[in-house]
Amino acid sequence: MRRAVCPGSFDPVTNGHLDIVARASQLFDEVVVAVGVNKSKSKARLFTAEERMGMLDEVCSAFGNVTVAGFDGLLTTFCQERGIQAIVKGLRAVSDFDYELQMAQMNSSLTAVETVFIPTSPEYSFLASSLVKEVATFGGDVSSLVPSSVLGRLTERLEERRSEEDR
Ligand code: ADP
Repeated sequence: MRRAVCPGSFDPVTNGHLDIVARASQLFDEVVVAVGVNKSKSKARLFTAEERMGMLDEVCSAFGNVTVAGFDGLLTTFCQERGIQAIVKGLRAVSDFDYELQMAQMNSSLTAVETVFIPTSPEYSFLASSLVKEVATFGGDVSSLVPSSVLGRLTERLEERRSEEDR
């Protein structure tokens, strides 16, 4: 059984993430989407870990071999505990590569886990959760960049934030 993990913060999941998950699901028997639930970073997030995982659960249910889990601590430990042989990362641009190469080499020095890089589909190469949030905050149309269920929740959350700030 070949298992892979797609790790990230997914705050929120975008069509770029989904493209990588879909392609990983063709390459591996089982794929776990691992959502970082680190408490110290939670203040900086727009969505809670539960919300991010809930959105992923919904959009990943279309794939028969993809599950969603939270992880805290070392990704290599998560892989060891679950018998996962590969970490799948999407590469958008050369700027992703430096950091990802360093991480991949560090991870393989800790355990025997391999990192597999999947090049982004060109239509998503500019896409990052942080940018989606920024554009949506200022009223830009992000409907082609995130799944429709995520778009609804993103709009709602940004409105909540706005009314909190106005108070
Ligand atoms: P982001 O960089 O959007 O904040 P994450 O930290 O959740 O997202 O990223 C998790 C993984 O998804 C990373 O390996 C990242 O390279 C990949 N990824 C994110 N967006 C894209 C995209 N548009 N195309 C390919 N891979 C992507």
